[in-house]
Amino acid sequence: MTGWNLPPGCNVSDLPGNEPEGPCEICLMDLDHCACPQCTTCGAVGDPICYEIHGLERSDAQLISFEIQQRLYKAEAEAEYRYVEECYNEQIRQRNEHDESIGPQKD
Ligand SMILES: [Zn+2]
Ligand SMILES: [Zn+2]
Repeated sequence: MTGWNLPPGCNVSDLPGNEPEGPCEICLMDLDHCACPQCTTCGAVGDPICYEIHGLERSDAQLISFEIQQRLYKAEAEAEYRYVEECYNEQIRQRNEHDESIGPQKD
């Protein structure tokens, strides 16, 4: 997986399958800061299956954390989107300028 021509601001860990582990799917905190309890049935931590099937219940702290983190992620994603869009517009602008400078010569 080398020689990929990634747009600016992207790195390999953004590609599907290469993400670092986390965040926790229950509280959306990164795994170092996740305080979700361990499942008494399977021993997993922060696994949605435990909350659907193994009878764990999300605490207020987990729900609040999820809300806050979700908002942060959304803001981050929007900022990234704007950045990519700006880069794209800038590339178009530069290309247009370039096209004009090599356009047909007028007498
Ligand atoms: Zn968690
Ligand atoms: Zn479980």
